[in-house]
Amino acid sequence: MPVPQRPARPHPGKPEPRLGDASLEGHVITYRCGVCHRTVHFLPSDLAQVFGPNLPALDPILRCSKCGQYEYIDVRLWFPGLSHHGSLIVRRPTEVIRTQKWRNEVLGDRWP
Ligand SMILES: [Zn+2]
Repeated sequence: MPVPQRPARPHPGKPEPRLGDASLEGHVITYRCGVCHRTVHFLPSDLAQVFGPNLPALDPILRCSKCGQYEYIDVRLWFPGLSHHGSLIVRRPTEVIRTQKWRNEVLGDRWP
């Protein structure tokens, strides 16, 4: 079984980076799953737009899109170099899909 990558506590001398800070500094966030080894890159500005700028940038917000694991995702912040522009594939948000759920109810319990 893989071992979780994230230290239990952040370094006491360094404040934990937030998504908003990472966005302003131009970082890229890389998620690497320790179970299936899928690697995905995100822009912190996209994650901050969806989840808010105050979330810790190094906490895995999303599950692995391949195997669904959450506990063994290694999150890293890094600066993209010039060689990454035009070649690095980042996962970006697209349209929002609204899902209507249905349930059975007894007629007359709720109006209309
Ligand atoms: Zn995975």
